Amino acid sequence: HVKNEGGAGYRFYAPDMNEAVIRRIEFEHRLRAALQAHQLELHYQPIHRLSDGLPLLGFEALLRWPQGDGRYIPPDQFIPIAEESDLIEHLGLWVCQQVARQSRLWREQGLQPTTEAWRIGINLSARQFDRADLVDRLASCFAQEGLGLDGVTFEITEGAMMRDPQRAEQQLQTLRSHGAQCAVDDFGTGYSSLSYLRHFAIDHLKIDKSFVHALSPHPDDLAIISAAIGLAHQLGHQTVAEGVETVEQLACLQRLGCDAVQGYLLSRPMQAAEVPGYLERVARGDHQPSVRLSA
Ligand code: C2E
Ligand code: MG
Ligand code: MG
Ligand code: MG
Repeated sequence: HVKNEGGAGYRFYAPDMNEAVIRRIEFEHRLRAALQAHQLELHYQPIHRLSDGLPLLGFEALLRWPQGDGRYIPPDQFIPIAEESDLIEHLGLWVCQQVARQSRLWREQGLQPTTEAWRIGINLSARQFDRADLVDRLASCFAQEGLGLDGVTFEITEGAMMRDPQRAEQQLQTLRSHGAQCAVDDFGTGYSSLSYLRHFAIDHLKIDKSFVHALSPHPDDLAIISAAIGLAHQLGHQTVAEGVETVEQLACLQRLGCDAVQGYLLSRPMQAAEVPGYLERVARGDHQPSVRLSA
């Protein structure tokens, strides 16, 4: 079978390949092309400490695939496809290069005066995390911009860590020896035992937004979040709640002792060009006038 790809050449499919498989291959092909054509974007979503004045802790870098009509394909729809092949490693490398470059620019502009001022979060996929040369690759990416890994927090899901806990332990230690921080992403959604948390060199535990959303209007899942925060603190980790959308959720998280928050209530992910304006508003203290914390 030959399918005309509109002048871009021909591709060949076995006659018994089903439609779904073909669509998947085409999707992957389009994604690969978008990456090569520099059509992907990184957006940045702020993370704030949950204390008076909501000081900025950093931004999480989030991939976006613009479709030219103002809409984006969300990463949940293309990361899993990329993860089925080496494409995820190219994507991951691009994200890292992009963050390193952006970070250098922000530092040159005096917007990120020190690493302590705020950090950038980078999501690592399971497949990236499995690679023995991961840390070398990440470090050389940042070295090309004259930077170390000390301004970065790497976010890794429970599932990715549990594929090979011993390797994960090593990777996390190496990352931290480079000054990076590490976070367990989507905490609570995996099936792993909690005992590994003791052994892993992690700084933050990011509580999945599904638990945060269950906090309001009716706080059913208080017990789960409360236990997660308690456990994290006992083990010396900070907690970050993702997906905070309402003042009720924020107030509830504050009562439960959560350390930091990220969500639409504070800000949606923004283009890199919007970050300087956001930093100015944070400096003036009017980044979130609708949010009032109790003393
Ligand atoms: P994640 O790492 O857990 O990222 C947080 C997700 O929550 C983001 O979704 C963010 O836009 C969304 N979010 C933040 N605040 C709110 C809120 O108040 N309400 C709701 N409903 N959602 C909120 P996004 O950007 O669609 O990304 C989805 C997932 O795709 C990420 O989940 C992460 O696992 C993956 N991803 C994104 N960028 C990358 C990347 O560069 N590399 C890798 N490997 N994965 C990425
Ligand atoms: Mg994340
Ligand atoms: Mg997350
Ligand atoms: Mg998530």
